[in-house]
Amino acid sequence: MGKKMSKKKTAGSFPVQVVCLISRRRVSRRIKELSRRLSRDYRGRNVLIIGILKGSFIFMADLIREMEIPVECGFIHASSYGRGTESLGKVKIAGLEKIPIRGREILLIEDIIDTGLTLKEITRTLKRKGSGKIKICALLDKPTRRKADIHPDYLGFTVPDRFLVGFGLDWDERYRELPYVGYIKK
Ligand code: 5GP
Repeated sequence: MGKKMSKKKTAGSFPVQVVCLISRRRVSRRIKELSRRLSRDYRGRNVLIIGILKGSFIFMADLIREMEIPVECGFIHASSYGRGTESLGKVKIAGLEKIPIRGREILLIEDIIDTGLTLKEITRTLKRKGSGKIKICALLDKPTRRKADIHPDYLGFTVPDRFLVGFGLDWDERYRELPYVGYIKK
């Protein structure tokens, strides 16, 4: 925890350092545990796993490869809009029209839950379109920032209120490829 990684990149013209918060080893161990639980809980249930892009793609790929049951996958793209960098509860959801969700049991895969407003809007939309039971699996959770009544059913790690990158999470489209979760030291 808190170990500085030697890897440095350049953001604009100044160098930044990413400090490791959750190591590659810890992430992959936790994903294996989650996959085992999911395989047990969803055996024989024909679950539809929906990844929320872009941040969830690495987590979801690792998660389903560790699962011991057949799964069906879909992806939607969620982006918040409005002023500022924070999610304001106005969420644009794209790609849902390509997924037959009516009556289906759904497992949503999210990279990180912050205010919870994105997931609140997604679950509301899925229910309105006639989905069956919905559960949430998130790699990371920042519960101190919550504004909506959203709780993950399956969670990798509870994290502090810092802006995190790596393992799918970006900073202005950078750092998604880092194999660990870290924060930027400016
Ligand atoms: P929420 O609607 O829960 O506030 O926002 C969830 C989304 O905000 C996440 O899917 C992610 O895209 C983004 N987000 C929230 N916290 C972080 C963070 O620490 N780092 C990054 N890269 N994205 C975050």
